[in-house]
Amino acid sequence: MKAAILLAPQHIELRDIAQAEPAVGELLVRVRVALTDGTDLKAYRRGHPKMPMPTRFGHEFSGDVIATGAGVHDFAPGDAIACVHTAPCGECYWCTQAQEELCSRLMRTMLLGAYAETIIVPAHIVARNLFHKPENLAYEAAAFLEPLACVTHAWDALRIQPESCVAIVGNGGFGLLHAMVAKALGVREPLIIGRNQERLDLARTLHLGRVVDTKTEDPLTVIRECSEGRGADIVIECTGAREIWELAPSLARRGGTVVLFGGLPTGEVVAFDAQRLHYDEITLRSPFHLTPRSVRRAFDFLTSHQIDPRPLISARRPLHELGPAFADLLSGKGVKVAILP
Ligand SMILES: [Zn+2]
Ligand SMILES: [Zn+2]
Repeated sequence: MKAAILLAPQHIELRDIAQAEPAVGELLVRVRVALTDGTDLKAYRRGHPKMPMPTRFGHEFSGDVIATGAGVHDFAPGDAIACVHTAPCGECYWCTQAQEELCSRLMRTMLLGAYAETIIVPAHIVARNLFHKPENLAYEAAAFLEPLACVTHAWDALRIQPESCVAIVGNGGFGLLHAMVAKALGVREPLIIGRNQERLDLARTLHLGRVVDTKTEDPLTVIRECSEGRGADIVIECTGAREIWELAPSLARRGGTVVLFGGLPTGEVVAFDAQRLHYDEITLRSPFHLTPRSVRRAFDFLTSHQIDPRPLISARRPLHELGPAFADLLSGKGVKVAILP
């Protein structure tokens, strides 16, 4: 079977590799859709500390079960599935503290390699974070389970009302998913702040909220207009840029919450106005990854069709065009590409 191997930054090779058999508890899955993601793009651009090269990569996917390992009873060949690429162990200190996103084994046991014709899903994921995909849920929508679960995890701790002023800074795939979740949770008009024209237009077309174009508008002015001058109840930073992390608290109201969602490169240091944080009681949160609970919530959003993320797919390409797909994304074109192996 064919699999894409990342040999070095910006160097992908499609290789024929031997088809492994599923071991106990595992599934062999034919990948139907694999999505590009910011993490994969980062790995493609400059490498990734968690993905030493050469490596198979790609982690957002949906597909069909081809074969099952011994001991698998809930799934059978032919079943369509949706899953995420990690699952907590359930035994470590963090798992026992209901902080499964920090499970000490999570990153060591994550599943990479969705940019391929087939993939073996390990037993711990099959047991906790893998679902039957209903027929009326498209494979392309099901492949969003992982990024959507990261977003629902971030929303787990937020208190909102329909009139809440929610300012989403950054309008890439994650910013737009945050807007979709905000709407699904009843926020009347989230603010989507960005500058990439294609993505601003997409947010407008999808009626995801009030679109703020930073090329022509000052976000703080708009936020004040929408909040009787107070500032945003919730600011969600989705750019992964240090300046925006540092700017985010200034957009929040007194007592507001800032969600620092877009991870920064290793070694990056940020500075905040301590007076503002303390006397205005700004809460900073930096949610990481997902939990089985947030995966379930994301799955429910998808299967109930409250959220249809498919418009975020800006192109569909075969596996051998993975390199050109990333090159386009690097140049700022598109949001997410669906790879159809
Ligand atoms: Zn654990
Ligand atoms: Zn992802």
